[in-house]
Amino acid sequence: MSAAGILGRLPLLAKWSGRMIQIKTPHELELMRAAGLVVAGAIAAVRAAVRPGVTTGELDAIAEDHIRGAGAVPSFLGYHGFTGSICASINDEVVHGIPDRSRALAEGDNISIDCGAILHGWHGDSAVTVTVGPPSAEDAALIDVTERSMWAGLAKALAGGRLTDISHAVEQTITAEHHAYGIVDHYGGHGIGTEMHQDPHVLNYGRPGRGPRLVPGLALAIEPMVTVGDPATVELEDGWTVVTKDGSRAAHFEHTVAITPEGPWVLTAEDGGVAGLAPFGVSPRT
Ligand code: MG
Ligand code: MG
Repeated sequence: MSAAGILGRLPLLAKWSGRMIQIKTPHELELMRAAGLVVAGAIAAVRAAVRPGVTTGELDAIAEDHIRGAGAVPSFLGYHGFTGSICASINDEVVHGIPDRSRALAEGDNISIDCGAILHGWHGDSAVTVTVGPPSAEDAALIDVTERSMWAGLAKALAGGRLTDISHAVEQTITAEHHAYGIVDHYGGHGIGTEMHQDPHVLNYGRPGRGPRLVPGLALAIEPMVTVGDPATVELEDGWTVVTKDGSRAAHFEHTVAITPEGPWVLTAEDGGVAGLAPFGVSPRT
């Protein structure tokens, strides 16, 4: 094989602050889009099945069936020993809840569903929070601000910007609320590509204009985690489930986005981000 042929098969890496950031070719982003759509479909299928009485183990099976049916592989399953294809985090659980065949949802619960898939070696990663039955006013507001903060961050996934422009937009959206929501520290977004978790780490707060330059071919998972009360968290003895220390409820939203010359491309959104980015005056590549 020619040198150009070999180079064409290896992901490009851009160096920043001693860390290597994977830069995808347009073709590789097309492959990531295909993986992203598998994740979007899995989350839609799980979401449609959320109702009182369904177990988180059943929801997990729905996600796994969808992912495998699309010819993809669930990326969470077996990840450091994780036993599910989704994370199912209920009420005061923030992230990383383990699906369980004996744990049924009840009216009034909120559940965050986080899901990832690998297709042809490329990853997609996305999360939503939904309520079981009609939401309380508190849940409705929490879910709304968390989702809006994610879209505000995605709207800053613009070539020529800097990484913390995204972090800042997420934080500003949350702190602009009358209620003092908590922004969960320690967990955050990440680069994504041929692995689920890559550099750079994406904080959900911070001053703008810092960190790596946002360049076409960079792909990031943007994922705010917001609490009604104090943002402090603790990990349960199962070694996975992250809960709020004060027992207050949390929400989590996530999309995988690629920076392109034509704008953000929200790879895990069915419409590429058209509806979610519109309030920010941003048109995605679709
Ligand atoms: Mg995720
Ligand atoms: Mg993620």
